[in-house]
Amino acid sequence: MNYENFFASSLEQLRDDGNYRVFAELERQCGDFPHARAHDGSSTAPVTIWCSNDYLGMGQHPSVLNAMHEALDRCGAGAGGTRNISGTTHDHVLLEAELADLHGKEDALLFTSGYVSNWAALGTLAGKIPDCVVLSDALNHASMIEGIRHSKAERMIWKHNDLQDLEAKLASLPLIQPKLIAFESVYSMDGDIAPIKEICDLADKYNAMTYLDEVHAVGLYGPRGGGIAEREGLMDRITVIEGTLGKAFGVVGGYIAASADLCDFVRSFASGFIFTTALPPAVAAGAAASIRHLKTSTIEREAHQARVAEVRARLTGIGIPHTENPSHIIPVMVGDPVKCKFISDLLLRDYGIYIQPINYPTVPKGTERLRITPSPVHSQEDVDRLVGALEALWSQCELARMPMAAQ
Ligand SMILES: *Cc1c(COP(=O)(O)O)cnc(C)c1O
Repeated sequence: MNYENFFASSLEQLRDDGNYRVFAELERQCGDFPHARAHDGSSTAPVTIWCSNDYLGMGQHPSVLNAMHEALDRCGAGAGGTRNISGTTHDHVLLEAELADLHGKEDALLFTSGYVSNWAALGTLAGKIPDCVVLSDALNHASMIEGIRHSKAERMIWKHNDLQDLEAKLASLPLIQPKLIAFESVYSMDGDIAPIKEICDLADKYNAMTYLDEVHAVGLYGPRGGGIAEREGLMDRITVIEGTLGKAFGVVGGYIAASADLCDFVRSFASGFIFTTALPPAVAAGAAASIRHLKTSTIEREAHQARVAEVRARLTGIGIPHTENPSHIIPVMVGDPVKCKFISDLLLRDYGIYIQPINYPTVPKGTERLRITPSPVHSQEDVDRLVGALEALWSQCELARMPMAAQ
């Protein structure tokens, strides 16, 4: 086999399908986010980022930066080991306590990313509980799917957010068989939200554990930023809450929060927890500061929701087709990978607006979209420029508009 030819032809196929990924090379401007510099070879241009998961701008929050600077000067750069071999620093322990408190759980366990936390926790739980069946929502994130696959446990995929289908699948299993229902609260591509209470009711009825990915909700929802389950008073009914420190909290890392024994079990058996260097102490300190801030400050959450509502209303006003949903994610549907990339390229080149096209396999073919994530740090002028640019592009490219709402 000619290996290089294989790589090249696979990439050619991806390009032909319009699914080849091109990264924008950004230089974030601390204090001026969502504004950044976009590098292209030796030239740079100013851009406004409209697709970041740093939903609240916590990545530049003074409390977070001060905590990180302080910890960096106090502890140095890296943790220096795995958690077991010298890498558990005081800052890791404080962060895990902060997370357990955030979710009202006995304990929490930190991982190097949200991806790793899902992969390791689901892989370990489903893999080690004898005869465990995982009931997985059809739109679960790749990290959950990989964790479940890695566990080699039996897997049943239920239709997205469909309680009847979930119940039919639960009912088809013996009551005594161990079951784990794996799902998300806010689904990040469509922005819809799971019926958490009803899923917990089914879990009780059929004696199942629940595993909830709140990655796109922590920091953003609930009185203290505990997520949708906190907002709905359901945290105590979820067996495992999983989250990230890399999105609304603005830093990096992932975690689970659960009972002390469950966390201890994953700590003791999960390869993806055990055999990797712990996060730098400064990262742990920054994440803890971010969580602490958002536990008491609601200004960011309120401004976030207000910005989202405003952008949505403005898009509706000019007929740009976007999917209504109860969250902060605004999917502007294009439905074609080549067009989606083309619009994104024009936004960047002609308007200094960066919105990454979302294509297959992140979303199903035919549902290619621009995923807009407004934040409290987008100014009125940023919003005006976004709306003006989309308006102009929709005319220039003769894209379909939504029927205008009846007056
Ligand atoms: C981003 C994401 C993850 C992974 O979190 P990271 O901290 O970015 O690794 C997990 N689940 C969902 C639903 C996500 O969107």
